[in-house]
Amino acid sequence: RQEQYRALRERPSETRDGAKVSLMLNAGLLVDLPHLAETGAAGIGLFRTELQFMVAASMPRTAAQQQLYRAVLDAADDKPVTFRTLDVGGDKILPYMRAEPEENPALGWRAIRLGLDRPALLRTQIRALLHAAGGRDLKIMFPMVASVTEFDAARDIVRREHARLIRHGHPVPSSLSLGVMIEVPSLLFQLDEILERADFLSVGSNDLLQFLFAVDRGNARVAGRFDPLSPAFLRTLARVARKANEAGRPVTLCGEIGSRPLEAMALVGLGYRALSMSPAAIGQVKAALLDVDAGEISAFMQPLLERRDGAASLRAELSEFAARK
Ligand code: PEP
Ligand code: MG
Repeated sequence: RQEQYRALRERPSETRDGAKVSLMLNAGLLVDLPHLAETGAAGIGLFRTELQFMVAASMPRTAAQQQLYRAVLDAADDKPVTFRTLDVGGDKILPYMRAEPEENPALGWRAIRLGLDRPALLRTQIRALLHAAGGRDLKIMFPMVASVTEFDAARDIVRREHARLIRHGHPVPSSLSLGVMIEVPSLLFQLDEILERADFLSVGSNDLLQFLFAVDRGNARVAGRFDPLSPAFLRTLARVARKANEAGRPVTLCGEIGSRPLEAMALVGLGYRALSMSPAAIGQVKAALLDVDAGEISAFMQPLLERRDGAASLRAELSEFAARK
């Protein structure tokens, strides 16, 4: 199997009918970078910057952050990289940061909330990113955004830091794109406003599923209770893709479901053309997509999504479709 996937490395990632699907990597540490060349991935769709903070014994200084980001951009060469700002709190605790115990950490003081309340931390990170990307393209996205005002505030911090670099005569990135993760359901009802402001969207399906169905993603008792291939979730994902495509804004999906061949096929049917996943999944997803017709899967899914029979999952139907060819 692995051999077979390796043989696909140089094959362009596209469906039978020629729809190009960009397959990218989720990464977070220097050790992940060789996977780019090994898998032939199109870039890094999600760089989890908190990993550097989680493995460190003390808060990484600006210089260390900058060094990592530069190394990532060097390794990616001309492939795109999307850095996500610190997503700590919740299940991701920094040992050296004193945190009040929280009753519901997943709903607590985390990610962009912490970043906006402790702007020095976010500013330092933004500064490190802007420095590291001098003369190159830079994409930054913000985690756990629940309202348009949070995105506006985060974007202001970036703009101020960018202006400051120019004022001090430092090199700036040749282009700067700012995106939002779609992982809190409230954003589903602010998509128009968000799409007017954000340069791109990235669906965090792990958290979106957790919050949409109110199931703790880390609790084995309930985590598998609702199928991502349920009409409710697929309709949600379809709407995000349609809105983003209509607005002409790139949309990527970077949660775990993109790593599974059947789910990846369904996502292509919903209009996704960029998936970011764990390195080990690239081969199997590419193999599956080479074998599927995007027009056919999309036409097959349309009536399925409109069915009103109360089915909990469309997995059986989608599996059957996949097996037919
Ligand atoms: C997600 O929530 O789907 C995601 C990609 O982010 P993380 O798994 O790091 O929360
Ligand atoms: Mg998430």
